[in-house]
Amino acid sequence: MERIESDIRELVEYGVRTGLVPREDVVFTVNRLLELFGLEEFGEGSELPEGMDGVVSAEGMDSGDNMDGKASRDPEESTERQMNARKEGCNPDEPGEGMCEEERHCSGERRHSFGERTSGETRQGSGEGALAAELEGILNRMCDYAYEKGLIAENGVVYRDLFDTKIMSMLMPRPSEVIRRFRQLYETESPRAATDYYYRLSQDSDYIRRYRIARDMKWIAPTKYGDLDITINLSKPEKDPKAIAAARNARQSGYPKCLLCRENEGYAGRINHPARQNHRIIPVTINGSQWGFQYSPYVYYNEHCIVFNFQHVPMKIDHAAFCKLFDFVKQFPHYFVGSNADLPIVGGSILSHDHFQGGHYEFAMAKAPVERTFAVEGFEDVSAGVVKWPMSVIRLNGPDSDRIIGLADRILEKWREYTDEGAFVYAYTDNEPHNTITPIARKRGENFELDLVLRNNITTEEHPLGVYHPHAKLHHIKKENIGLIEVMGLAVLPARLKEEMAQLKAAMLSGADLRADELLAKHADWVEEFAPKYDKIDASDIDSVIEKEIGLVFMEVLEDAGVYKRTPEGQAAFDRFIQSI
Ligand SMILES: [Zn+2]
Repeated sequence: MERIESDIRELVEYGVRTGLVPREDVVFTVNRLLELFGLEEFGEGSELPEGMDGVVSAEGMDSGDNMDGKASRDPEESTERQMNARKEGCNPDEPGEGMCEEERHCSGERRHSFGERTSGETRQGSGEGALAAELEGILNRMCDYAYEKGLIAENGVVYRDLFDTKIMSMLMPRPSEVIRRFRQLYETESPRAATDYYYRLSQDSDYIRRYRIARDMKWIAPTKYGDLDITINLSKPEKDPKAIAAARNARQSGYPKCLLCRENEGYAGRINHPARQNHRIIPVTINGSQWGFQYSPYVYYNEHCIVFNFQHVPMKIDHAAFCKLFDFVKQFPHYFVGSNADLPIVGGSILSHDHFQGGHYEFAMAKAPVERTFAVEGFEDVSAGVVKWPMSVIRLNGPDSDRIIGLADRILEKWREYTDEGAFVYAYTDNEPHNTITPIARKRGENFELDLVLRNNITTEEHPLGVYHPHAKLHHIKKENIGLIEVMGLAVLPARLKEEMAQLKAAMLSGADLRADELLAKHADWVEEFAPKYDKIDASDIDSVIEKEIGLVFMEVLEDAGVYKRTPEGQAAFDRFIQSI
């Protein structure tokens, strides 16, 4: 048997085991893969192992109920078994916090999968790590084969990603099937059952590339504001030079208009746009308008989701945005959801397409306490307070989301027009607006909660990238915009830091002159500043020292981004604004 044939067999087995490929579709899927690789037959010895040949019992044949939204009667129905496995494997009170993805789904329990009839049996392999490694191996070999056979023009990562997404598309259910399954679980079980199914699908389909996410460096950094999450993002691969050159020469297309547009669903991609044939979107109606729900392919935190307008319209923070946030939280009470601000510098990377980000995770900011409360006339029924956080956050809490929205409208309206020269807050310069808000909504017990983070994007000659933005001193670690995710306490740091920190540690241990090194000179001031705090820094503790100090830099980044400083003068100025509400 040829290698490619056994790889096809292994991939289809993976599809059956993960529930992507119903057993009735096995032969069909094999044939689609043969066609993709330009093969005319599945040769001698390539047969699927017993039980995976697509032959199902009369009872199992009745899979039509999978399509009409009713509960499946087939006890072997894969997604249902996955759901059960997850329910057993997760403690619903501790939704994955502090645990890796694999632990979260598999701790104490074994996952169930294809070929198992009783709930006590284990599946082949050991959890998501094995699943990810297995899929990466199969797809790698298939891409090698495709390149040898001339099915891929170049052997770089951009071309291989386009092709392996096409491979995975052969295993995917149609969008309507995914939507029906999601709605069925939502209605007959729970919102959480529906998102669990969809999150699993988004990973099994390789839309979320588990094996790349696993490369990200992550740690927790304790600070006076709580435990910040630090990530060095390594899952976005460096593009190969040939692909960069080809992209430069490629025609600029307006389809899809951006990475968030719904037209990405099923799109084959091109040299300057990722393939999304394995991508599926769940439509949601929020505040009466049509939006889409999906996960981020880069999952910075557990179940990192994106909720986006079906229209390609710009970000806007207004009354309707607050209503939409709460409407989403009511439909998915186990998720928080927030929006980036709607101005450059303090907004996210995509301002041109209206979207939110949410997920199943509690950030340090959500855990941070209210340090002083205040009441607003006419809204005495809404609890309001200032959060102990490096940025300037007003927290509203109460049982009635409409009342919270009413007060949020008032605060937004006041803040947009608010100027306090003494605190260097200017609503406008030359008619250009500077004040906006980053809002985050969540359910807190029986109550609703809304955090309003005050933002201002003014620039000066001294701070050309932004006064309330990481200052130049911190750019050696973080120079990029402070968007929603970082506001909440998760640093997404650039990939360059992995290599720089490795070299920095080696240089520090050998006593080399950091300023003499082109790559490390920019970190020299920082090291000279923190080193005296420690009696010694040697091979036994340098890793933890660097991790801790990067965390403290991120804390300063957030303090720089805070409009009101954590000083008596800064907090007095914050109170002046609160009194104006
Ligand atoms: Zn768009």
